[in-house]
Amino acid sequence: MKLFEAVKEAVTARSAAEYYGIKVGRNGMAVCPFHPDKNPSMKLDKRYHCFACQADGDVIDFVAKYFNLSVKESAEKLAEDFSVPYEKYQSYNKTKDYQKPKQKKQTLDQFFHEQQIRFFRVYSDYFHLLKKWKVEYAPRIEDDDWHPLFVEAMEKYTLIEYKMDVLLSGSLEDRARLILDCQEEVKNIEQRIKEESSGRCGCTSGSVTES
Ligand SMILES: [Zn+2]
Repeated sequence: MKLFEAVKEAVTARSAAEYYGIKVGRNGMAVCPFHPDKNPSMKLDKRYHCFACQADGDVIDFVAKYFNLSVKESAEKLAEDFSVPYEKYQSYNKTKDYQKPKQKKQTLDQFFHEQQIRFFRVYSDYFHLLKKWKVEYAPRIEDDDWHPLFVEAMEKYTLIEYKMDVLLSGSLEDRARLILDCQEEVKNIEQRIKEESSGRCGCTSGSVTES
């Protein structure tokens, strides 16, 4: 069925009005949204008619007027909101909601493959940072407190190395578990690395402060 027919067949003015928040009494009477109405003077059924302002039409007219849409937009809105199936024409194709999703579904294999590459890249970048921090921020005898980056490096170095190892040569199950369990961690590290590379212009000699 064509759009207009299909919508008019499937949706009454009354049900549309109710759907969009207009209170319709049991007798089908409602306060007219198209003129300053105090008492319900609009009768809604398949069509609508206001006895005060003479507004009158079908469901598509009603929604067009109510939302200030063209009749075509109104019919498309109704079709969408009420899930009305209809024959689609070329000219309706620009309505994005009716286009088939272009994105094809990613298979589980692809997902894990991509994640594995991503995880390894992130861990490996991080690992190199840790390695650098371990040297760069190594405490000297006169230091009272260890530099937090040195502490982080000491804490994480072995763990990250282990994770990289799992990704490279772990069983399928171990790799899958790592990828599922460590999403959050990898996201945080990614963020960390991004901040690190934007905020601290790769300082190699200790005294670089300005950016
Ligand atoms: Zn009215």
